[in-house]
Amino acid sequence: MVFRDDFHIHAAFYRQQSEGGKSGPKVIDQINAAKAAGTRYIGIVEHCNVNPTHPFHSLIELKAEFETLKTQYSGIFRGVEADLLDGGIDCCGNAGRSFLGLDYVIGSVHLSPGIMPRFADYLETEYSRIMLALKNNSNIDIVGHPFISGTRYQKAGVISKWDYSQIPSQWLWEIIRTAKESGKALEVNYRDFNDPFYRNFLADIRDAGVRFCIGSDAHDIEGHVRLESFALVLDELKFTTENQWLPGGASCL
Ligand SMILES: [Zn+2]
Ligand SMILES: [Zn+2]
Repeated sequence: MVFRDDFHIHAAFYRQQSEGGKSGPKVIDQINAAKAAGTRYIGIVEHCNVNPTHPFHSLIELKAEFETLKTQYSGIFRGVEADLLDGGIDCCGNAGRSFLGLDYVIGSVHLSPGIMPRFADYLETEYSRIMLALKNNSNIDIVGHPFISGTRYQKAGVISKWDYSQIPSQWLWEIIRTAKESGKALEVNYRDFNDPFYRNFLADIRDAGVRFCIGSDAHDIEGHVRLESFALVLDELKFTTENQWLPGGASCL
């Protein structure tokens, strides 16, 4: 297995818990779980958005724990997963990034039928936000899980089946072309690698030399096992480390 780096691991302990709810893992729990799963570089994140369950102070508390661990572990990094909004701006911004002293920012679109009922509106909105973030947003390093919210429209019965064929192929090409120009990475973080249209998208990313990274999106200590299955798909598709995205201070060797 070539790819063993995971920059999308949530330390969910610090978010606002619902009354009686189970608290998620701390940074140390996620580092231990990632190491047990064989992960090399470990990137810890939490959400940065306007959802009350993700208050900004949770990112400050996460940072405080992370700082106590930095001297004990090498190869650990800290970022945020910031919501991408209209215009491609992100919820963290340059000011949030420098205040928190982040190593990187993932920009992700999170939409659902509850927020945007029409599937066509969702698709167009995600495309537009990704494109504008790639073109104009210097704050983000990685576009997180492109179009993963499509699965929610299938689950809610808005569409009968979600797969990458729902996305106009011209849009996928534009995303690849613009990502290549920007030097930003597209994240491989998806649950249906049997979707031939998604595999074609990955192959196009590979052939165009777009930067990429894998994210398990683990919200608990059990979620790390996903990384291996993602990495095996990239091996199968003959990805090499040449265009693998790594944060500053990490080396491919
Ligand atoms: Zn996300
Ligand atoms: Zn996430």
